[in-house]
This record gives sequence, C-alpha cells and structure tokens, in this order.
Amino acid sequence: MKITTMMKIAAAKEQAAAGVDFSPRTGALCPWCEKKSRIYRTLPWEDATRIRYHLCENGKCPLATMRASIKSIEMDK
Ligand SMILES: [Zn+2]
Repeated sequence: MKITTMMKIAAAKEQAAAGVDFSPRTGALCPWCEKKSRIYRTLPWEDATRIRYHLCENGKCPLATMRASIKSIEMDK
C-alpha cells in the first residue's frame, strides 16, 4: 500500500474519531467510503446534541477492516 493512501486512511480514521455529522435522513456516513454506517451505540440527548457511535460495514473499506469507531453528532435545530 502506498504511503499516501495510508496517510489518507489515517486522516479518515481521525475524522471518524473526531465526529461526523448525523443526518436523520441518511444517518452517519463513513468518512472513507461515504456509505451509511451501522449504529452500535446511541447516547442520550445532552442539551441540544446527541452522540452516536457507528461502524462501517463495507467489506472493502479500511475503516471497516480496522473496526474503527465512527462518532456522529446530531444537533437539535
Ligand atoms: Zn467505510
């Protein structure tokens, strides 16, 4: 695997850990493959935000292979 690819994967993994937007329509998309990820943990609302944790289930996605946790943030508008 190319070093640039590895760096891109590391950046996607960082983004997954930092948090992606949660949409009520599409859920949270994997920062690497942009497919809908499966929710495995939903935290209660805290003020106007809700955190969820997801896993990508795309067999070809490196974040799925690493079982990297994807954090999503939903904002009450
Ligand atoms: Zn993915």
